[in-house]
Amino acid sequence: MKDLQEEVCRYGRRAASLGLVIGTSGNLSARRDSLVTVTPSGVALDALTPGDCPVLTLDGEIVSGSRAPSSETPMHLALYRATGAQAVVHTHAMFSTVVASTLTELPPIHYNALLLGGAVRVAEYATYGTPELAAHVVEALHGRQAALMANHGGVSIGRTLEEAFEATRLLEWLCEVYVRALGVGTPRVLTEDELVAVIARAGMGSGNP
Ligand code: 13P
Ligand code: ZN
Repeated sequence: MKDLQEEVCRYGRRAASLGLVIGTSGNLSARRDSLVTVTPSGVALDALTPGDCPVLTLDGEIVSGSRAPSSETPMHLALYRATGAQAVVHTHAMFSTVVASTLTELPPIHYNALLLGGAVRVAEYATYGTPELAAHVVEALHGRQAALMANHGGVSIGRTLEEAFEATRLLEWLCEVYVRALGVGTPRVLTEDELVAVIARAGMGSGNP
């Protein structure tokens, strides 16, 4: 698991350097087979070292590491149990948090929303670190690669840490576009037909999504 701990640590530092998290907010994890490594609780992500990241079973039993796992470990583990994800990234990125504190869904005003599965749902509010929050996030992520967490932040999943991390960056970009568009006027939401046309074009191998 050492290489995976190093990767979690590298992406944690990257999240901090890109301003997606500040201080000890946010957490990341990656899975290999029946084991998961997650960032420790209460450690600033820009100061992470690989040895800081405990290794757990999918049931949350600690296999190695002296630091307490992230308080959001129940959410990370619930996502591994419910989806095919191999990595989870949770942040309190600025625009994601703004939208998560205001709306119940991020409407697709840019076709790149399809890269995350379409309109991004906002998971119902529950206290951080609770099984209730984990259940709300699992529900909001159904058929999606990212979700927002009411009055809290955002969460993304992927088959690799790189994929989950890029989904987090895209989620933040989409939220920023939406918030800035609101400052200019009324954002136009793409219609179902327009979204279907994008999917059809991408399906023909003409770029993303
Ligand atoms: P941890 O430091 O326990 O990972 O908590 C940060 C956080 O974002 C809680 O939602
Ligand atoms: Zn959080």
